[in-house]
Amino acid sequence: MLKPVDTDISLIYECPQCEMRHWLNEDEVRLSPDFVCCGKLYKIKPVKIKLEFAMLTEPIKNNRLKDEVVAKLRGLGYDRGKAQLMVSEAIKDTKTPEDLMKNALSKDI
Ligand SMILES: [Zn+2]
Repeated sequence: MLKPVDTDISLIYECPQCEMRHWLNEDEVRLSPDFVCCGKLYKIKPVKIKLEFAMLTEPIKNNRLKDEVVAKLRGLGYDRGKAQLMVSEAIKDTKTPEDLMKNALSKDI
């Protein structure tokens, strides 16, 4: 499998006055962090874009991990049913074990 060697990403800024969109690439933003619209010069915030490969961000579907986080939550005083509910609600937008624990805790409302 080949990995990409570079990115070609446009950043889209919107003129606050006329809502026209301005497409700028990373280099343009870095070299000249501004654009002109409606006769005004707008300063823009430079950003840094990092390539992250999918392997690192695959959603967690691992039951052992779920059990581990459920156990941790039980250690914090949640009963099993509640802990399992929190984990199953948290797991869909989770990328790492740390995220899972954090998301699960945020489901305790
Ligand atoms: Zn404008």
